[in-house]
Amino acid sequence: MELRVFEENIIREFEGYLKGANKVAVFTHMNPDGDAIGSALAFDLAMKNIDIESKVFIANEVPDALKWMQGAESIHVNAKLTDVKEYLEDADIIVCLDFNEPGRVDQLGTILKETKLPIIVIDHHPQVASYKGLLIADTSYSSTAELLYWLLKESNLVVRSMAFAESVYTGIVTDTGSFAYNSSSPKTFKAVADLLEIGFDKDRVTDLVFQQFDANRIRLLGHLLVNRLEVIEGYGAAYTYLTKEDLNRFNYKAGDTEGFVNYPLSIKGVTFTAFFIENDDHVKISFRSKGSFPANEFSSKYYHGGGHLNAAGGRSYEPLYETMEGFEKLVKQFTNEL
Ligand code: 5GP
Ligand code: MN
Repeated sequence: MELRVFEENIIREFEGYLKGANKVAVFTHMNPDGDAIGSALAFDLAMKNIDIESKVFIANEVPDALKWMQGAESIHVNAKLTDVKEYLEDADIIVCLDFNEPGRVDQLGTILKETKLPIIVIDHHPQVASYKGLLIADTSYSSTAELLYWLLKESNLVVRSMAFAESVYTGIVTDTGSFAYNSSSPKTFKAVADLLEIGFDKDRVTDLVFQQFDANRIRLLGHLLVNRLEVIEGYGAAYTYLTKEDLNRFNYKAGDTEGFVNYPLSIKGVTFTAFFIENDDHVKISFRSKGSFPANEFSSKYYHGGGHLNAAGGRSYEPLYETMEGFEKLVKQFTNEL
């Protein structure tokens, strides 16, 4: 079946970059999720398969829930500028997966601003930054992993291995909340069907990604839902939060709160929700919405952030309780202006 997903000239340009390349550096965003790690590992496998040297760099750690992924152990974590610059000395291209804003790679952002190498961005977020190189980004895709799959397929670079299929699938299944959202397009399911034909154990991935948490993580969720949920009556909004003390009490590890943000959206009438996590020097905020409420606009307007229409993130440098008080006011103001 004919399934053209990109302009022909973009595919040819992508192939042109790879044709002349011997060595690539792959960047994905900090606090990586399944789509970040899944697409980075899939791309890394595709490069190695055509004898291009490749290495994935991230600014912090791989979350525990994704450490099982084949190749995760060879990701260069907590990447220091000097190490990355040394690797880049004889590299040909930097490939950025699942982000386009340099701030999303923390300390590595300066490299993206200063490098003379071409940068290929493969992403499904709205474009906020541009680089010298090639942008392959489309917000209509469920995940970067899915977009990458179709790109590699167009270029005959799909790797028919279980590790590849698992990586792409992990990106798709996590970014769609197990096909609950971002997955109304048949092309998402066509990609998954292709991956199942390549061969991998889908139920094993479900188990490894969603069913291997510590009891403490479930208790933390219980605490959040019972004691840390506020509904802003009359505005279709609700929010949840966790203090530093909550995190310590339940032995929090990176990745434990993945998915927590979504729960208030299952309350009747709630179409916008925020989740605040207290850190040492800032409050990390996740936003989710249903329908046309622009979570990304709200986040970039007030919280130094951005993202998708229905899923965005940002941060506040005020203390947690002030941040939440401010949020209640801003929700009312923003909703009245919509
Ligand atoms: P999460 O709430 O899972 O951290 O992020 C939700 C979405 O918002 C993701 O697509 C992520 O890429 C984006 N996002 C999260 N934090 C930021 C941020 O600080 N800036 C921007 N531009 N996007 C963010
Ligand atoms: Mn993604």
